[in-house]
Amino acid sequence: MLELINISKYYKTENGVSLGINKVNLKLELGEFVVITGESGSGKSTLLNVLSALDTYEDGDLLIFGEETFHFTSDDWENYRAQYIGFIFQKYNVIESYTVYQNVVLALEVQGYQEDLRKERALELIEKVGLTHRKNQRASKLSGGEKQRLVIARSLAKDCPLIIADEPTGNLDSESSKGIIDLLHDISKDKLVIVSTHDYDEVSHYATRKIRMKDGTIVEDYYVSKPKTTTNKLVKEPIQTKFKDILRFSFRNLFSTPKRLLFTTLLLFLTVSVFSVTYAFLMSGQDVILGDLKNETSSMKMNIYDKQGDFIDINDINDTGLSRSSTIYFENDSYYSSYGTVITGDNHATPRNSIVMENSLSLNEKDIHIGRAPENSNEVILNTRIYDTLKKTNVGFNIALLPASANTFNPRPSHFKSYKVVGVTDLGSLNSIFFHDDIFQDEEFALLSALKKSIDINIQVTVRERSSQITSVKTITVDKAKVRFDSSLEKNSIMINSNILPDPTFVSWRAAKVDFGPRFDNSFSTESLSYDNLFFTTPNAYDDLVLSTSYLEPLLDAFFGDNYQPSGATVFVRDLKEARNFINNIDRSKYRILYANEQLSDDLLFSQVEYTIIAVFLLVLFGVLLFSALGVVLRNINLSRNNDFAIFRSVGASKKSLQTQFLIEQIIITLIAVTLSLVLLLVLNVTVYQLNIAMRYLSWYHYLILILFVTFLSIRNAINYNKKIFNLSVISTLEGKMEVYA
Ligand code: ADP
Ligand code: MG
Repeated sequence: MLELINISKYYKTENGVSLGINKVNLKLELGEFVVITGESGSGKSTLLNVLSALDTYEDGDLLIFGEETFHFTSDDWENYRAQYIGFIFQKYNVIESYTVYQNVVLALEVQGYQEDLRKERALELIEKVGLTHRKNQRASKLSGGEKQRLVIARSLAKDCPLIIADEPTGNLDSESSKGIIDLLHDISKDKLVIVSTHDYDEVSHYATRKIRMKDGTIVEDYYVSKPKTTTNKLVKEPIQTKFKDILRFSFRNLFSTPKRLLFTTLLLFLTVSVFSVTYAFLMSGQDVILGDLKNETSSMKMNIYDKQGDFIDINDINDTGLSRSSTIYFENDSYYSSYGTVITGDNHATPRNSIVMENSLSLNEKDIHIGRAPENSNEVILNTRIYDTLKKTNVGFNIALLPASANTFNPRPSHFKSYKVVGVTDLGSLNSIFFHDDIFQDEEFALLSALKKSIDINIQVTVRERSSQITSVKTITVDKAKVRFDSSLEKNSIMINSNILPDPTFVSWRAAKVDFGPRFDNSFSTESLSYDNLFFTTPNAYDDLVLSTSYLEPLLDAFFGDNYQPSGATVFVRDLKEARNFINNIDRSKYRILYANEQLSDDLLFSQVEYTIIAVFLLVLFGVLLFSALGVVLRNINLSRNNDFAIFRSVGASKKSLQTQFLIEQIIITLIAVTLSLVLLLVLNVTVYQLNIAMRYLSWYHYLILILFVTFLSIRNAINYNKKIFNLSVISTLEGKMEVYA
């Protein structure tokens, strides 16, 4: 059956080469019970390893059923091992974390043994070696003799013609030894059994042939008794482990060693978390790096106006595909912003050139470090620095804001509008005040803003010169900042500051007409006013033009019609990419974009691309380094599994199926770790403010990339490991020759 011709095997050692076996010639047949004896170091193990293709050899030929093997690929050897050979070693090769039953059934599973018969067969074999009472024990709990019985049961499960036992009793007391030898004899019919021992007497009564070795050569070889003749036919199908079983192994391996599972998962979890947090910070840093965003404004701002001075179509803005983290405020965001504004606390006034109205919806709960979010349109949140200048110790006080339309230099108390400060935030600029969202939906507010900003208010007055009795029409333009509505004025009345009249003494006023300009399609104007509802104020009055609030309603109607139609929009984008996206998607022939934030210049758009490239590069580098380090640690942890892998191979698992199995294990662990890391990230998001800010800039695809990249790195580690370990010979693996990486 087996024929060795001049086979030599050398081991490379540190100080040269050491001889394993030297020019061994041997012919072995089925039915033999061969005992190999010899002192320690005489080459017994080497010979058995070569015979069973657990190890390679340098010179000579090995014939299997007369077939030459020099052309065998590693797959062929794998097949040979898997189909023909059952192994029993001195160092009881059981998977310690498996139960007795699992150890035996493993061999059946690897071979793809008929599924419904596996259990029965495994129990039968366990019975045969006398371990039925321990079948659900972990193998680690067995005594030496029991482990060896287990190994025998498992090698029988393979149903192979060759049983190779290398000092199977080496570590056993004499009673257990006898049991094992008896068992070997029991199973030896039809098979070729080769047993090595340094105590020949132990096996002498079963041996059909005795071979003695010394210094790597056979020094004695004779038949003790006549071998049984056998008709064992050796037509075997190559072993094909089913994917379902591979999957089963992966799970069993993971969960039969819960401590290792926990530890490796924890390690991976920490690595993934460190990477995720780094990722969040680096990716969100895209805009922070470009400007003093931390100190100025939480996001970038663009003001959008219609080039023709028309209304803005809300859909045009909404359809630009801005992400959820961008915000759009229509029209009225700058009610307070363009002209001088004074904020007064209870007894402290802080002049401001302008106020940036921001929507409190853009703040997260965590951004408000004192107080809370506004609950109605009379409540606001201040930026920390305004708050500080007001010298307050807590929120809850009122501030008064002066609308930009009011007379800044001599404001009247009635011009101020009072707001309750309910919170303080670091975000936004020095001039930011965060209002309740309602205020941005408030049409009246929007109207005031619109009037202030861009409507030409013409007061058309008809004048009659006294002397000539000729009627002529003069138009006076009123400073937009000095228009105000007043509820104390009678219905449909207006008041004009006599200061702006051409020459009151020469003019006899018959009527006045206020025209609200092109924004209203010139369709809205006051009717001609007679003396009855046309009043004048003295030249040093505060306002140029005061309108009765009865005009508000029709003005709103004219301005917004049935729909709220803003005349401008302010868009806050979270980063430059988003800005560019917006700029590209909006109809620029129709709309003008004012960059409120100089960060949006093309130069900086470019530098953001650069930043992103560098950030991605750094992340990849960091990720690869981090996971390589992790790989080294995991590799060392997995070294303890070499024994298990070798057992898998010795019962016939192919390299490929083992690699798949290991890969699946890694993927499972990675998925667990990634899930845990994401949970951690979300928890940290709630508790760590800086991370919270960073994470706001991450959208779903960032998480997807993160998961994919991390999984990729983990799989890469697994593949590296696979290459390292499964390319060694089985025996090297078994003997732990896999290098330990420092
Ligand atoms: P036995 O099994 O009879 O004790 P071995 O086959 O293990 O003998 O060893 C035969 C010779 O080969 C010994 O001289 C031993 O030193 C050498 N040898 C065995 N394995 C290795 C190895 N992995 N590296 C170096 N030398 C080895
Ligand atoms: Mg040995």
